[in-house]
Amino acid sequence: MEVVATEGAARAGTVRTARGSYATPAFMPVGTRGAVKALDSVDLGALGAEVVLANTYHLMLRPGVGTVARLGGLHRFTGWDGHTLTDSGGYQVHSLGPSVDDDGVTFASVYDGDRVRLTPESVVEAQGLIGADIQMVLDVCATLPASPDVLRVAVERTAAWAGRARRHHDRLEARPEAQALFGIVQGGTDPVLRAESAQRTVAVGFDGYGIGGLSVGEPRPAMLEALAATVPHLPADRPRYLMGVGDPVGLLEAVALGVDQFDCVAPTRMARHGTVLTRHGKINLRNAVHAEDDSPLEDGCGCLACSRWSRGYLRHLLGVGEPTAWRLVSIHNLAFVLRLMSEARAAIVEGRFSALRASTSEAWATRA
Ligand SMILES: [Zn+2]
Repeated sequence: MEVVATEGAARAGTVRTARGSYATPAFMPVGTRGAVKALDSVDLGALGAEVVLANTYHLMLRPGVGTVARLGGLHRFTGWDGHTLTDSGGYQVHSLGPSVDDDGVTFASVYDGDRVRLTPESVVEAQGLIGADIQMVLDVCATLPASPDVLRVAVERTAAWAGRARRHHDRLEARPEAQALFGIVQGGTDPVLRAESAQRTVAVGFDGYGIGGLSVGEPRPAMLEALAATVPHLPADRPRYLMGVGDPVGLLEAVALGVDQFDCVAPTRMARHGTVLTRHGKINLRNAVHAEDDSPLEDGCGCLACSRWSRGYLRHLLGVGEPTAWRLVSIHNLAFVLRLMSEARAAIVEGRFSALRASTSEAWATRA
């Protein structure tokens, strides 16, 4: 990637891939099963999203990676021309309490209970069939809080699996449409283990680096400490991806530490529950105070929902369970997060990122 501006450790950059390029800091909406819930790829294009995430684990179980491949691969299957990134399934699998051994992981399908086996090699192959622009390696994500022994085993396996994924990906790399491969750093909230995991992942060598196993319920200062211990060990010319963070304050705190890209289901999940993100903090649309409120979700927002409909109307749709409410509020919340990333980028370029970070923290502290 090309870093175009910095302010402290914060970076504005351009990541180049076989498909083209995307600007950072970047937020990637999550299309778990091949769609961002309640939206389609035209909506995402209108929002200006540049990278959309899909979950290998879910696509592998339904409809199956072979089906995605035979229907033209992820881009054609979902009708999305922008960048795509597939996760490895490691996080989903580990949250199900599977059986992990040195060679891979075995779990029961959430759909039919069938036994499914993942190895670093099979996950590379599955993502190859899906055909996203960016693949993630299979990692071992320890559930926090975890004992030092559990964290140590997770770091060891993650490092060994990173090497196996790298070698397998390189063997398959004869394709012209080369997919990027990102490694993943683990280590829980232990700064020493984080630094070691970062160094060992970098030693394998990847196109970018995920920082996994955080934002899983640990206190925010512990997450930031783990990040601060990780980022200095990552190469400056590769994107750094903090997995699973999407709240405005957390995004800007991580950008301040040098993170470039993010994914999170929270903005769209919150939307479906009536929580609206605004630059003044979040509002609960279900509150009776909005029943006859003729104002938009957020003053000055140019998104589809805000340009045309009132809080009162959207609150009504939400209250009676109309899926249109999920779509429109999701559009707004994604517009908000994507705009925050654009604003962060512009602020870094103009040397006023720390002011944006301070004002955002203040707005969310008073209204959250
Ligand atoms: Zn809006």
